[in-house]
Amino acid sequence: MYDVWVDSTRCQGHARCFAFAPDIFDFDDEGYAFIPEDRSQHAEIPEDLRLAIANCPERAIQVKDNT
Ligand code: SF4
Repeated sequence: MYDVWVDSTRCQGHARCFAFAPDIFDFDDEGYAFIPEDRSQHAEIPEDLRLAIANCPERAIQVKDNT
């Protein structure tokens, strides 16, 4: 299982992640991305999330493999 989250110290709020994976990312009141709890664990990294990770200019999207 993979845990996925946005490192808030890196996120700059461009929303490129949302353009690639609108079903995964959300934004706080200040415009910074986060991944809600119920979307933060994945058995496999879906393609839309993979694209979001690859296209985040700040490398803010973090993945940890818990297997
Ligand atoms: S693309 Fe990266 S830096 Fe930009 S809002 Fe998404 S997570 Fe944050």
